[in-house]
Amino acid sequence: MLCEFRARLVAGDAAERVLNLMLRRLVEAGLLAARGKQRTDATHVLAAVRRVSRLELVGESMRAALEELARQDAGWLAPLIEPGWDKRYGHRVEIRKVPGGAAGVVALAETFGNDGRRLLTALWEPGAPPRLRRLRQVEILRQVWTHHFYWDATGSLRWRDGHELPPASLRFDSPYDTDAHYCVKNGTEWSGYRAHFTEACDPDLPEVVVHAAATIAPVQDGTLLGQIHADLADLHLLPSEHLVDAAYPTPARIAHARQAHGVTLTGPLPTGSGRKAPPDPAFGKAAFAADWDTRQLTCPTGQTSLPWKTLTLNQRLYQQASFPATICRACTERPRCTHSPTQPRTVTLQPTRELHEIQLNNWADQNTQEWKRRYALRAGVEALHSQTVRTFGLRRSRYRGLPKTHLQTVLTAAACNLVRVADWIRAPVRAERGPTRFHTLCLDLELT
Ligand code: SF4
Repeated sequence: MLCEFRARLVAGDAAERVLNLMLRRLVEAGLLAARGKQRTDATHVLAAVRRVSRLELVGESMRAALEELARQDAGWLAPLIEPGWDKRYGHRVEIRKVPGGAAGVVALAETFGNDGRRLLTALWEPGAPPRLRRLRQVEILRQVWTHHFYWDATGSLRWRDGHELPPASLRFDSPYDTDAHYCVKNGTEWSGYRAHFTEACDPDLPEVVVHAAATIAPVQDGTLLGQIHADLADLHLLPSEHLVDAAYPTPARIAHARQAHGVTLTGPLPTGSGRKAPPDPAFGKAAFAADWDTRQLTCPTGQTSLPWKTLTLNQRLYQQASFPATICRACTERPRCTHSPTQPRTVTLQPTRELHEIQLNNWADQNTQEWKRRYALRAGVEALHSQTVRTFGLRRSRYRGLPKTHLQTVLTAAACNLVRVADWIRAPVRAERGPTRFHTLCLDLELT
């Protein structure tokens, strides 16, 4: 009954309706206001299913398809069963150590592969009942085989190397939850989903969640910003300032938030491109004066670049300026400017003057004490993650599939709001965190 009830909640977008109704009531009660400050962050949610290796995945996919076929049409399946299938697929597939090392792994994978090929070939024979091809686990088996095997030139089925696999956002991690995907973020590896929360953080009001959503794990945090702002605009709950971490802002997103919604997006922009950054920060991109009329840069020693060219990188437009090689090679400041012993300095710019200026202004701002003081408010969103995980058990999804994980995420947000508003009514003044004992000791000893 509960399973059907949840399916109806998902079908009717009821979770959003509950949260939106709650937000409207909070606005009417004066406990929530538009055009204040809000902050957004995402946390990882583990899938409800067992995490399996690639070998276990193909074995389990075969087992799941056999189980479904045995349930639906045992008479059709019985003549296909080969010796050894019961041992391989009669129980949950768990593979701890494969004898023979890497070659043994490939051999076992190709054994699974050939079993699956025989089953899929039989399913697509002209005499096979078409309804069996449309079974969910049969379709998953077909896709898993496409992801993990290929036909070589001799017509044999082969196990793909790791680098030949489709992207993590496309391949399955489990035959029982095909929305769960592998992801790595800041050293955390997981298979499942990402929960995104936006909460109000005005000093005189309770901190309530105004937007919640779940996505598959590989969806990058910043890609949801446009959707968050559009949803908040529909609710008339847009902030004046939106605090986010470095995963969210780009010059283009800052410009769009300001122009489309009147929102100031506050977050640090990355200051260099890692390995390619110049050895001396004084020779970073901000030290090069751009002339957008002549499309040229002037470097810190006064040299002028060749006119810059437009290029496309990861489906985004950039301008790239190079300095004449002869001038850079003769330059005495060269060790401060570039790592390359022979190549001239190149600088990549935003595609338009407006975005370039947003980038420079953000870089200048994010080093000031005033900006850091304003931005410090963003860190409070970690308390929300802690509450959703520790109080409401959001670290692991209770359900299979993205729609129900999204339902869990939005209802968790609504539950957080109830607790937070109740706490606020009981004690409307937020307790200030006191100094640490060590800091107090230093104050006592006058060591600060
Ligand atoms: S290396 Fe080239 S770009 Fe860098 S300071 Fe010297 S002349 Fe200018």
